[in-house]
Amino acid sequence: MAIASVHYLNWGEWCPQKGIMGVNSISHRIDTILKVFPGRRWYKALTPFERLISTVLSQNTSREATIKGFENLRKRFKLIPEVLADAELEEIKQCIKPSGLYNTKAPRIMELARIILKEYGGDLNSLSRLPPEQTRERLLKIPGVGFKTADVFLSVVCERESFPVDTHISRIAKRWKVVRENAGYEQIRAAFEAVIPPGKRQRVHLSLIEFGREICSARRPRCANCPVYEECEWEGKRQG
Ligand code: SF4
Repeated sequence: MAIASVHYLNWGEWCPQKGIMGVNSISHRIDTILKVFPGRRWYKALTPFERLISTVLSQNTSREATIKGFENLRKRFKLIPEVLADAELEEIKQCIKPSGLYNTKAPRIMELARIILKEYGGDLNSLSRLPPEQTRERLLKIPGVGFKTADVFLSVVCERESFPVDTHISRIAKRWKVVRENAGYEQIRAAFEAVIPPGKRQRVHLSLIEFGREICSARRPRCANCPVYEECEWEGKRQG
């Protein structure tokens, strides 16, 4: 069934009767983007705790800046909760400076190390073995952990099926009219999860972030080089 008038595919409206054309169209764009940005899991070689630190460092910064701060930290400290919980705050700040927001991120890293030590005996595996919704609930109780960090933890640390929404994904969702302009985190997450089958979400998450950084950037998107230019419904897209 084709519904020509569906412009915004709000997750609440998402059902085969109303949105099948939209679902196919979004899936097609995602598949096209995956061919260009395959969504490689760069964090695969890291321990769960190292992955958690990298997610904190990655907030509001590029992957290069994340890796730089992470490598500095790894050179200076053994990256285990026991060590970072008792480290000197100033030293952590200096190490992660290249990743930006170091005054916020350094205390957050120490706080997470302490919580993991206190609540989980320093072993993240016990947390990651719980059902995903329980893991998410527990994470959201930790100060400074919001929806995004909890979902990144589930996806990156636990390798579970979740679809974290960052600024790039949020922007793409709105430009593609997957959700309305005023949609919040949970709506965007649900809308993408309705289209992306389990087993593919991690890759698509990473792929869309790369696409958002390289092509569909916030300022001056490179629409002329965009592999889904023809399908994009954003009124602000640029030909030149
Ligand atoms: S055409 Fe432009 S705005 Fe649309 S998805 Fe591509 S880069 Fe983004």
